[in-house]
Amino acid sequence: MHNNYIAGEWVASKDAVENRNPSDITDLIGHYAQATTAQLDTAIDAAASAQKIWQATGLEARQTALMKIGNTLIERADELGELLSREEGKPRGEGRGEVYRAGQFFTYYAAEVLRQIGDNADSVRAGIEIDVRRDPVGVVAVISPWNFPTATAVWKIAPALAFGNAVIWKPANLVPASAVALTEIIADAGLPAGLFNLVMGAGSTIGDALVSHPAIKAITFTGSVETGRRIAAAAIGNMPRMQMEMGSKNALVVMDDADIDLAVACAANGAFGGTGQKCTASSRLIVHDAVHDEFVEKLVAATKAMAVGHALEEGTQIGPVVSEGQLAANLDYMDIARKEGGEVLCGGDRLTLAHEGYYMAPAVIAGTGNGWRINREEMFAPIACVIRAGSYDEALAISNDTDFGLTAGIMTRSLARAGDFRRRAETGVVMVNLPTAGTDYHVPFGGRGDSSYGPREQGQYAVEFFTSAKTAYISTGPAS
Ligand code: NAD
Repeated sequence: MHNNYIAGEWVASKDAVENRNPSDITDLIGHYAQATTAQLDTAIDAAASAQKIWQATGLEARQTALMKIGNTLIERADELGELLSREEGKPRGEGRGEVYRAGQFFTYYAAEVLRQIGDNADSVRAGIEIDVRRDPVGVVAVISPWNFPTATAVWKIAPALAFGNAVIWKPANLVPASAVALTEIIADAGLPAGLFNLVMGAGSTIGDALVSHPAIKAITFTGSVETGRRIAAAAIGNMPRMQMEMGSKNALVVMDDADIDLAVACAANGAFGGTGQKCTASSRLIVHDAVHDEFVEKLVAATKAMAVGHALEEGTQIGPVVSEGQLAANLDYMDIARKEGGEVLCGGDRLTLAHEGYYMAPAVIAGTGNGWRINREEMFAPIACVIRAGSYDEALAISNDTDFGLTAGIMTRSLARAGDFRRRAETGVVMVNLPTAGTDYHVPFGGRGDSSYGPREQGQYAVEFFTSAKTAYISTGPAS
């Protein structure tokens, strides 16, 4: 049994969940304790006390602790990436890359600890000077999804700690092994006992208790829109800060002047990387009439050539989907697509492979309408839907016609069109001649519309959410 980490101790529970490998469901990864609400209360009390100690801890000690966590993640990226891939199902290289990136988030925010440079100003009144400093917010609830179990959590935990806060982390219950592994590394970094706590459990129980707790001063969440709304409603009575990154329905526009081979490579990468289970996935491919048939033919060939298999096997390009429930939902969407009149050009079926797992052939569906359910709802599946457009303006309008607004991309050789798209795409992230997925760690990340609520994550922008500005007026007294 793997336990929760509460007030600086590993603590057992009566209840546990079983964690199995989606690439091979006979592979039992372990049993993971489910935190009780009494344990949650203990964690929050300990966090509130430890936060005061951490806030008063010298900058270099704080920087050193974060750097140690980051360096350990980087050094152990192979081993921890394998564990991540084993429980989540993304190919080994993607698992390793995610852990390595998580290490970079920590080393980046370790450096941010030392950026203690505030603003100062003269008052409008004579003899008064002003300085603006930033204080930590207090105890922060971090709630993360299963699809990037380490990276999404770390891009919240690292800035929360860097800016002087305490953390209660509730990971998704499908990926507890990565959570325990990361917690072990954080527990070894020399932080005050109780500053960082892991509470595993279901969203509807421990998650709800966490976000409803009056001592929680900020909630940073990544997950679905539905859960984000539920959390906001549960928490609002206490009025904590809230930051939510949620679902999306990202478009990749392929123009008549695009490099078609590059467009196909970007579309396949964006649509099927992580088995299509990325918030930045290219699920709507909006293709200009003039290149539509060539693009679709080449995309179908590239998709059919992609190797679906066990996440840890050499050569696998697409792993299984994460769970039986997710696979069933994907297959339902394939039925919906057929009923809506989509032309399924390849894939879309469950695959039976050597290992018993949740495998699905990646699908390309042509002739789809932007108003159809498959183009309105986030499927989180290896399913790419092609929509025809007769002109650039039409393509841009379709791209923007969505409830979401995380990323949008354009494939074009025209600088003017790329510039126009960059200006007029109604998303938080824009890609030019790149897949819609794949972002850096030192710049802001987040969306618009239903994709996002609250201030941006990542880079220096994270300071807005994790700190509170304090404006001090200092009378310098009469000049002597
Ligand atoms: P989810 O919303 O089902 O769960 C996310 C987290 O919320 C989990 O830890 C879950 O246990 C918890 N939770 C559920 N109900 C809760 C409640 N009532 N109170 C508190 N916590 C609760 O999402 P998921 O299926 O784990 O992840 C997939 C979703 O995440 C997709 O919609 C995807 O687009 C989104 N996502 C967004 C980004 C982004 O940065 N925009 C990144 C990755 C994933």
